[in-house]
Amino acid sequence: MADVLTPTQLSTALLQQMRYQAELAGPSKFDPHEIRLSEAGQCARRQTLRALGFVPTPPSLREMAIFETGHLAEDRITALWETQYPGQLLREVEVRTEFGVGHIDLWVDPIAHLVECKTTTEKRLKDLPLFSHVAQVTLYLHFYGNARGATSEIAYLFKETGEIRSYPVVYDPALARQLIVGLMEVQAAITLFKEPLPISDDYQATAYPCAWHTPQGLRRCGFWDHCWGSQVTTVTEKKDVVAVAEPLAADVAEYATIRVQQQALTEQIDLIDVRRRALEAGFSEILDAKQAQALRAQNITLKRSVIPGRTTTDVKAAIADGVVTETALAPYQKINAPYARWTVRQRTRTAAKKKGAFRS
Ligand code: SF4
Repeated sequence: MADVLTPTQLSTALLQQMRYQAELAGPSKFDPHEIRLSEAGQCARRQTLRALGFVPTPPSLREMAIFETGHLAEDRITALWETQYPGQLLREVEVRTEFGVGHIDLWVDPIAHLVECKTTTEKRLKDLPLFSHVAQVTLYLHFYGNARGATSEIAYLFKETGEIRSYPVVYDPALARQLIVGLMEVQAAITLFKEPLPISDDYQATAYPCAWHTPQGLRRCGFWDHCWGSQVTTVTEKKDVVAVAEPLAADVAEYATIRVQQQALTEQIDLIDVRRRALEAGFSEILDAKQAQALRAQNITLKRSVIPGRTTTDVKAAIADGVVTETALAPYQKINAPYARWTVRQRTRTAAKKKGAFRS
């Protein structure tokens, strides 16, 4: 049983701490399996990790306090609209779509105006409105606001001063389509492949959105350990690794050598390819100028044939535009047979030494 605190032991700070601890111990208010429209412009891998059951590091009490401050900003912004349209505001309006779920912070019904409430700091002023917030509002317009002839804004409350700035968001159909295609990729990773999406090539372990610096030190995304953890901890022999002896060991060594040779040859082919394309570009200029299709030099004839481009259909864009639905296409979907990807890793001498494989 929990210790009962006497009135003299209580303080406001302690009460806040106790509330956050109780929240952490209880069930989450959010369904981890739902794809969130609010994160459409953020890390797609994070959505797949959460939905596939990877457990994030719980937020610190400080992070929970920051999150709660966001709700307080929403209360202040709503109070301002309430003076104009008492009793006619809707909060947390659910936007449920086949690609994910979102909640509009504030819907001013009499003027069909959508308000997304955010907190920020003075030093971020130059970056406003943030792309991820514009992405979120774009999807709310696409799935809810446009049908109601809505206008929209992102209202930023500055933490230092309490000042509020509004940034209107104008619906951009190309951005909406791009975001919906992104959500479809998240959906396919979760439901079809059951594998998290890979880490984006331009992400780094110590840079936003994976980690960021604060006056209190480096903060990390809750899923950081799942993405970068193995690269910083000591690698131990994994259960799914089989150590093989001769004669198979020689085959493994040969395979590693072949892969190195293959890579070197591929690099050479790439160089040849660059030169070939440069020559072709030069020949094309001459043939275009002379309206001819072949070049002759001594006994060599070079003929250019123009192959018409292939017609393809961008199914993802068609679904995003609502021309066809995923359900209608489902009977025509085919899943290719899985294939194996082989990766060669050489243990460094230092690592092997630690395991006793090399003796000096
Ligand atoms: S650590 Fe980086 S890559 Fe991994 S889920 Fe978080 S933001 Fe995405």
